[in-house]
Amino acid sequence: SQAKVFDKDSHVSTTFKDVAGLAEAKQEIEEIVEFLRNPGRYTKLGGKIPKGALLVGPPGTGKTLLARAVAGEANVPFFSMSGSDFVEMFVGVGASRVRDLFKQAKEKAPCIVFIDEIDAIGRARGRNPNMGSNDERENTLNQLLTEMDGFDTNSGVIILAATNRADILDRALMRAGRFDRQIHVELPDINERGEIFQVHLKPLRKGEDVDVSFLAKQTPGFSGADIANVCNEAALIAARRKKETVQKQDFLDAVDRIIGGLEKKNKIISPSE
Ligand code: ATP
Repeated sequence: SQAKVFDKDSHVSTTFKDVAGLAEAKQEIEEIVEFLRNPGRYTKLGGKIPKGALLVGPPGTGKTLLARAVAGEANVPFFSMSGSDFVEMFVGVGASRVRDLFKQAKEKAPCIVFIDEIDAIGRARGRNPNMGSNDERENTLNQLLTEMDGFDTNSGVIILAATNRADILDRALMRAGRFDRQIHVELPDINERGEIFQVHLKPLRKGEDVDVSFLAKQTPGFSGADIANVCNEAALIAARRKKETVQKQDFLDAVDRIIGGLEKKNKIISPSE
């Protein structure tokens, strides 16, 4: 089958404005935007542009969003694939997909290659005794390492990868000249949650009793994705109630609903608790 492993989207409209909070991560990744906008300024002085950076943090915190925003800010194409697409693949397919991806990227440089869930292919080799043979995954990982080593640092292809399990990654991925930078993307604090609410409230017609700092206070532990869900869910609840605006109570009910969903998810992950 022809699974969609990567897509090219040369007009990425996402920018840093869409990414709320994450001030430090944005600042660190801004440097990559600068490289992409003006590679000559760096190479002229003999500097080496980094090949890649690893975005590390819990699910739903905006890693994909941030990677897209880098492409949007630098106005370069964005190629993406997910490590989980390679999990069940016929022999040789994973490696050849990686090869294709890099071939296309090199032709379109400067550009961003984004690998989501890199842990699915980048788990430390030979550490999974009860999973039978991992040969295919290892082939894919080896191909990725080969590709990363094989192109010139200054070719203008920058590889961003995301994981929430940096601890299980093969150390070889983190070696100099590969993902030698790590950018941490954490769950938002109360102020950052407020900023994320601002972004996702914008398209809603909200009632006068809706207060961003109140909502931020009601949502400890929520990720940006959870907050986006709350906003959408609140609008659906308000519509079901045939309201003209989305009101505080709709948001509170949406928060309850998302908390219910999160609890269920946690139970599935850790049934012993
Ligand atoms: P995963 O690890 O599950 O792939 P992720 O960290 O890549 O998650 P995203 O896919 O970037 O998370 O986030 C999902 C959605 O949540 C985004 O498209 C956006 O709507 C919202 N979101 C997450 N973080 C933020 C943020 N910091 N600012 C604004 N919106 C956010």
